[in-house]
Formats: sequence, C-alpha cells, structure tokens
Amino acid sequence: ITSKLPQTETSIFSVMSQLAKEHGAVNLSQGFPDFESDPYLIELVSHAMKDGYNQYAPMAGDTDLLKEISKKYQLLYKKAYAPNSEITITAGATQAIFTAITAVVNKGEEVIIFTPAYDCYAPSIKLMGGNIVPVQLQAPAYKPDWNLVAKKITERTKMIIVNSPHNPSGMLFSEDDMLQLEALAVRHDLIVLSDEVYEHIIFDGNIHQSAARFPKLSQRTFITASFGKTFHNTGWKVGYCVAPQALMREFQKVHQFNVFSVNHPVQKALATYMKDPDHYLGLSSFYQKKRDFFINELKDARFKIVPSHGTYFQLLDFSKISTENDVAFAERLTKQYQVATIPTSVFNANNEDYKQIRVCFAKNETTLKKGAAILKTL
Ligand code: PMP
Ligand code: GLN
Repeated sequence: ITSKLPQTETSIFSVMSQLAKEHGAVNLSQGFPDFESDPYLIELVSHAMKDGYNQYAPMAGDTDLLKEISKKYQLLYKKAYAPNSEITITAGATQAIFTAITAVVNKGEEVIIFTPAYDCYAPSIKLMGGNIVPVQLQAPAYKPDWNLVAKKITERTKMIIVNSPHNPSGMLFSEDDMLQLEALAVRHDLIVLSDEVYEHIIFDGNIHQSAARFPKLSQRTFITASFGKTFHNTGWKVGYCVAPQALMREFQKVHQFNVFSVNHPVQKALATYMKDPDHYLGLSSFYQKKRDFFINELKDARFKIVPSHGTYFQLLDFSKISTENDVAFAERLTKQYQVATIPTSVFNANNEDYKQIRVCFAKNETTLKKGAAILKTL
C-alpha cells in the first residue's frame, strides 16, 4: 500500500505516555489533568443518561448546548453566533480542526502554520493534497513576525492557522497580532483557523484575544475549542467549532459524514454546566497557581524558565544541562530519571532544536512536587 502520509509517525503524545508507563515515570508529557472533573458535572452526565439522552444527538449538536455556547461568545467577546447555523459540536477540537481543514483546503493550495505547531494540523492539510507553509516562531518569546508571514503569502494561499494561547510555548497573541492577522486575511482573502482550546487558561491578568472579538476577522474564521481542556475531562472528547454561516455550511457537509453527531448525554450535561460562567472563568487563576507552584519548586534547578503566559504547559530550557538534542534528552529523562516530558523540536518544520522540553502542569501538587524534585537533580 502506498501511504497517503509517508512522513507521519505515531504522535509524540502517544509515544511519551507509553514510554512513561513502561518506565514508571511521573508523566508530565501528554497534556491531561491527573485530577478529576467536578463531581457535579459527572452527576449531570449520569442524569442525562437516566433521562434518556442515549440516542443520536442532532447533527450539529444538542440544541441546549448550542445555545449556551452562543451565549458564551456574546458574554465574553460580544459576538453573536447563531445557535442553529454557526456552531457544531465535535469529537474534541481534533475533529473540529480536521473537519475545518478538509472542508475548505484543495489540492495544491497552501496553508500557513506557525511552528512549533500542534501536531494535528499538518497531516490534515497533507491528506487534502495541500502544501504546508511553516513560519517559525523564535525561542524564547515565540512571537509571530507578521512581515515574514506577509512574504509567505502567494496566490495559492488558502488558509492560515493560528493558536493562542500557544501549545507548546504558552505564548499569547496580543491585540496588535490579531489586527495584523485580520489585515492580512482581508487583504489576501484568506480563511483563518483559530485554535483556541486554551482560551480560558490565561495568566497574569492578560485577556484572550479571540478571533471572535474582531468583526472582519471573525467573518472568515473557524474557531475551535475543547471542553476536555476546560472541564478536566480530555477523555470525553467533546469540543466544538464556531464559524460564520457560509463556512459552517461547508463544515457540516463534512461533519455529517465523518461522525454525524457526537456523545449526546455528555452534551446535555455540558449545556447545564455551562449555564454558570464561573465554571470556566475561574480556570485561569486555578492554573496560574499550579504554574507558580511548579516554577517555585524548580527555583534551584538548572533549567532556564520563562513563565508560561497561558495553556497548562511550561517550557524548560536545558541548554545549561546537556548538549543532547531534545528528543534524546527527553527520552533519557524518562528512562533514567523517571520523569516524562515532551521534546519540542518535533513540532518544528525542520526539527529546529531550541533545547526546550515541555512539561504539563495540569497535575496535583504532589505530582508536580515529585516531578520537580527529580528535575532539580539534573
Ligand atoms: N489544539 C491544541 C493546541 C491542543 O493542545 C489540543 C490538545 N488537546 C487540541 C487541539 C485537541 O483537543 P481535543 O483533545 O479536544 O481533541
Ligand atoms: N493536546 C495534548 C497535548 O498537547 C495532547 C492530546 C493528544 O494526545 N492528542 O499534550
């Protein structure tokens, strides 16, 4: 068989979590919490099952949940998305991203991505025969260079993918970044995919610059989001996409023949849970405490640390500790020291190696303390 994705290997998240298991390592690699979701939310799911929401949800999603999502965008970003035509509930943000890309990218068209880039963008583009045009974000700030982006745009450019708060660096787009993005997208008639799965995890008083805040940008943007990140249940795999009607129509043409619809009782429960905005508005301070706790535990370590601005990831620069490449270093940490992390060069177009590993701090303090205690010995 001729592979459609000859260069694609098993995702680094599967690889490192498996390696962590084999070596009994503290797993700070793949991004998921090691604590439970709110018991009330779990109860709501079980109620929804008992109440009979066990058959197919409507194709676009449970109507109550669509309404709650619409209310959230109005409340936070003053943007009205129509519940019946501009929102679709998906099997995690991963499916939302895949669907948005496959709905609009054609063979030979170019898609600009910022590297290091989350690993699901590139394969979806390649499957459609699209060409990836990477723009490297330079360590340690990882801020976008819009002049460089402008130079990479050609008449074949169809889409630009952005991700703020950014995985793996924790960088945030500023208002100015969004305005520059908007100007380029309008000038060159581009579709934007704005991956905003960490929208509620922002630190130090910063605010999330959602594409939804910018009228000319939101008119041409798919925004993707993940309940797993927000409500501590990555295993439920429920997320969503919002987009203007013309884009959402194309999105749903793919969605209905990809999954048709997703987990109904979970959607019902999420609709009730979302009625209280405190359930997501408290997340930034919750994770900022974890970030600060973890960094403080590492204060005597030899890693260079620029505190993450958002997401539940922290980069650690190990250039004072080892000259190994980051993949070898992360592998050795797991096998010899029993702490698993993610090397970041795997997210770069040419595996540029900034000697940075990523740790996930969505963990109990005991886990963070244990991981930091090991990292301090290096
Ligand atoms: N985008 C980014 C930047 C992510 O970190 C993740 C990982 N959770 C996803 C998308 C996928 O989200 P989900 O687990 O909801 O599919
Ligand atoms: N988003 C998670 C991370 O960055 C991983 C999700 C996955 O394993 N696909 O670690």
